[in-house]
Amino acid sequence: MIGQLIDGKAVAAKLRGEVAERATALRKKGIAPTLAVVLVGDDPASAVYVKSKTKAAREANVDVRDHKLPQNATQDELMQLVRTLNDDPIVDGILVQMPLPSQLDSDAVLRALDPAKDVDGLTATSLGNLAQGRPTFVACTPKGCMRLLREVNARLEGARAVVLGRSLLVGKPISLLLQNANATVTMCHSRTRDLADEVRRADIVVAAIGKPEMVKGDWIKEGAIVLDVGINRTPDGKLVGDVEFTKAAQRASAITPVPGGVGPMTIACLLENTVEAAQRRRG
Ligand code: NDP
Repeated sequence: MIGQLIDGKAVAAKLRGEVAERATALRKKGIAPTLAVVLVGDDPASAVYVKSKTKAAREANVDVRDHKLPQNATQDELMQLVRTLNDDPIVDGILVQMPLPSQLDSDAVLRALDPAKDVDGLTATSLGNLAQGRPTFVACTPKGCMRLLREVNARLEGARAVVLGRSLLVGKPISLLLQNANATVTMCHSRTRDLADEVRRADIVVAAIGKPEMVKGDWIKEGAIVLDVGINRTPDGKLVGDVEFTKAAQRASAITPVPGGVGPMTIACLLENTVEAAQRRRG
């Protein structure tokens, strides 16, 4: 390893500490930042995510209200719950754990969600504000990526950034954030003609495609910063990112590992958004 290892666990712990301090200050004013978590069905991965979010929230002095609906919940039941949470003055942030069971329309849920409580940053209002460069709730993983770039003092102005993946959850918002920070951004996706060629020119690479080690180490430009968002499980049960880590680390100036890189930042940023929501609504 030649480049700097970006320790997402340590940065996330620092951020959670900052969030806990802000939450404590709000509590002294009688405001208890509160996150409502909606879990529909029995997807085991979703249940694990929700459990770790709840644990991290409690540690950061953020209250959590869990709402569980059964696997066969109807759209009406879910919409009614979202509307109740929208109207509940105690609730600052609402997180609807995705993916939803197939009978449910997640777009309709996001359209119904009060943007003032959209701590996941996934509503059209939040994404529209981001596109317009206005202050808004930013999706947690992209927000975490930007914090990691700040932590390594990345120079973004004029930098050539290449984002792999164009999802609403990761690729699109991180591209907007990098553009808002005056980077020159190229977005790549499954129809990009020559991915290697695009990556080779990048000062900053953000990989969010969900393909194990697809980005080869020798594609990375000497001195580039690499953020690997991908989380993939290999057939032998190992977790790997989208980037061939060991080889990429020989060329990068800084790189996130998987696990322990971008992943821990996501929950910390969700908590930060929740405290931000409490401050905006009630502070
Ligand atoms: P999506 O499946 O929604 O999007 C994947 C994107 O990658 C698409 O835009 C797709 O292109 C593109 N893509 C797929 N194959 C290729 C290819 N061969 N070459 C170039 N582009 C390709 O995934 P997400 O954005 O939700 O997640 C991406 C990864 O990040 C996953 O591994 C996920 O587990 C991880 N993740 C990690 C988080 C964390 O906390 N660290 C949080 C969220 C996600 P197209 O649009 O053309 O189909």
